[in-house]
Amino acid sequence: MIQKTIIERLKVLADAAKYDASCASSGTNKRDSRGGKGIGSTEGMGICHAYAPDGRCISLLKLLLTNHCIFDCHYCVNRKSSNVERARFTPQEVADLTISFYKRNYIEGLFLSSGIIRNSDHTMEQLVETARILREEHDFRGYIHLKTIPEADAEIVRRAGLYADRVSINVELPTVAGLVRLAPDKNAQTIDGAMGTMNDAITEARDAKKRFRHAPRYAPAGQSTQMIVGADGASDADIVNRASALYGQHRLRRVYYSAFSPIPDASAVLPLRRPPLIREHRLYQSDWLMRFYGYSPGEVAQAAGADGMLPLDIDPKLAWALKFRESFPVDVNRAPKEALLRVPGLGTRGVGQILSARRHRTLRLDDIAKLTVSVAKLRPFIVTADWRPVTLTDRADLKALVAPDAGRQLDLFAA
Ligand code: SF4
Repeated sequence: MIQKTIIERLKVLADAAKYDASCASSGTNKRDSRGGKGIGSTEGMGICHAYAPDGRCISLLKLLLTNHCIFDCHYCVNRKSSNVERARFTPQEVADLTISFYKRNYIEGLFLSSGIIRNSDHTMEQLVETARILREEHDFRGYIHLKTIPEADAEIVRRAGLYADRVSINVELPTVAGLVRLAPDKNAQTIDGAMGTMNDAITEARDAKKRFRHAPRYAPAGQSTQMIVGADGASDADIVNRASALYGQHRLRRVYYSAFSPIPDASAVLPLRRPPLIREHRLYQSDWLMRFYGYSPGEVAQAAGADGMLPLDIDPKLAWALKFRESFPVDVNRAPKEALLRVPGLGTRGVGQILSARRHRTLRLDDIAKLTVSVAKLRPFIVTADWRPVTLTDRADLKALVAPDAGRQLDLFAA
């Protein structure tokens, strides 16, 4: 059989990696090669492959080490029963590719995952070896995100954190029943256990760093995971609850949601159509409500309908406000930060500006208008020195008054 060239394999393995959403490189520490030391940097701009929460574009070489796999997850294009073209890199080849892409200024880092070849330990060894070559042999200081394999030996997984900025273990599906049905080779307890072990290792390393200046860096950008949305019957409320438990138990930096998309040569047990992309977007908004706006998972679930699904036409913060109108209007000159954060259309930055401005003067509607895209949509929910809604929050048509145009939904949430 003729061996594929590097470029042919790159084509196959970069394409095979595109289904993984969990590669934003947010939250890493600064590391660079200024002063002539090493090569690469975690800072800077480049070709965009992923976005950090602050909007920064991050360019990553996103690859699989191999798309051969001995597992048979129904939702995965690389499952063993799939009829796709296969390819494989060695750790040395991936390290060389990363360095040559970096030198051409194409990328700022590497996102590396893999199908499972031979067994989980062997595959995990190969992933760790790639990162080791980059760090130890090339003194590469750019960003590295390694996928880890929960079934692999804990000691090999632990070593990933010595070289990677971020590590991730995919929970894959929000419910145990979904995992059993769609990923028969995977086990929810094993995945949970691996996340717990990684969390312990990250915490220990942080403690050591506080006590000993020269303690080694260990996964400074923490761990993340990805959930596939729409491949099983899990509702948005199920997904929100699962994400919240993961943030709480394993202190994940991020949970990524990936709308299931029909894959070539799809398994017959999968739905034929992908869920609307806006559903994925609503889940990200819910995630933000829990992480930055003080909503409990139960409160986010209250924004959902009786079927546990979030409305698609309005964001979950507005949906909650329309359901709990008795919590409004909120006096922008007196209300605590927690209440201000619940006002639809006010983002964390806007709330910060209100809190600092009101120390010096009493705020009027015009002051708030400068902080938001549409003060008209905010008015039913706030009181200012010169404005108090009278019956606005009781109006049956309030939703129609404040619901954003389809193209403006992001604006309302993140003003
Ligand atoms: S383990 Fe499952 S999800 Fe991962 S590559 Fe193999 S078949 Fe795909």
